[in-house]
Amino acid sequence: MSALALLRPELRGFAGYRSARSDTVRGEVWLNANESAWANAADPAGRCRRYPEPQPEALRAALASLYRCAPEQLLIGRGSDEAIDLLVRALCRPGQDAVLVTPPVFGMYAVSARLQGARLVEVPLEEAGGGFALDPEAVIGKALRTGARIVFLCSPSNPTGGLVPHADIEAIARALEGRALVVVDEAYIEYADQPSAVGLLPRLPNLAVLRTLSKAHALAAARIGCVIADPALVAALRACQAPYPVPGPCAALALAALAPDALAATRKRTAEVVAAREPMRTALAARPGVRRVYPSQGNFLLVRFEDAGAALAALLAAGVVVRDQRGAAGLDDALRITLGTEAENARVLAALWAQEVAA
Ligand SMILES: *Cc1c(COP(=O)(O)O)cnc(C)c1O
Repeated sequence: MSALALLRPELRGFAGYRSARSDTVRGEVWLNANESAWANAADPAGRCRRYPEPQPEALRAALASLYRCAPEQLLIGRGSDEAIDLLVRALCRPGQDAVLVTPPVFGMYAVSARLQGARLVEVPLEEAGGGFALDPEAVIGKALRTGARIVFLCSPSNPTGGLVPHADIEAIARALEGRALVVVDEAYIEYADQPSAVGLLPRLPNLAVLRTLSKAHALAAARIGCVIADPALVAALRACQAPYPVPGPCAALALAALAPDALAATRKRTAEVVAAREPMRTALAARPGVRRVYPSQGNFLLVRFEDAGAALAALLAAGVVVRDQRGAAGLDDALRITLGTEAENARVLAALWAQEVAA
């Protein structure tokens, strides 16, 4: 069964807005979109004079090649945040359908569900074997009982740093086929030692994978992310999206970032972060007042403290801003610390040592 069957029934056949750029006509004088005939003085080359391609073809091809899928399987959006929102809006009927999440987890799934009027159902991760793990049977059972249309799996998970094994993704997707779309958010997969779930797509029609250039590719402000899924679902999502979601300068920058030299530099940096991760984890675990540092497959570490408030204050006093996780379920003593440069990591460690001296 195609993933298209999971679309809100009232959106079947919906064509969305027909923009001037969606026509495939050829011409020399373009007077069809009410654009200015002159460039802005601040943009003398006229790079921004015309509306951009809704799905920039060259970028789509480059991303598809990087992620090993077909261009038709990939929709570019304003970060994976937009993809999350589009999926919830296209699949969940307000007041009826549910979105399943596995807390503690990235907050945007719940935000999009709330905005859409979709119910939020939770299957908390369990602490086992030194990290957080998901119980696939619990996810399947709850999704079936609550009529969840989308199951969000975050792998590597923000903020826990844990992976969802491919066998679990596959078991969940198979059990929910025809009932729910399983969305694997791989914002940090470049830092992981498990390959992308994109490789599972040919076998699992109700699977979608989110990728982004915001983290390992260092382009957070360009807002380029994508959803990779069944081509029919991708076309339906496109119809729900804004007419021109990808600004021209951002598409050009993203394309340049996918050229071989830039990609090689990104891979080198990513490998450096991965190499620094375990030593930083060990060093943090040895700081006074640190209860536990979880193993991580991302570019961050989740740390429990005897007194997380004091640690946060000590870090702030040293000019270091980290993410306070104390509001998240089961993490009332935790901070999430992004791995930075060698000097930045040293500063974190020094600030936490100074904390003891002060105490
Ligand atoms: C950072 C992050 C995103 C957001 O990515 P954008 O592409 O910048 O919108 C998505 N998912 C998770 C889990 C993240 O941590």
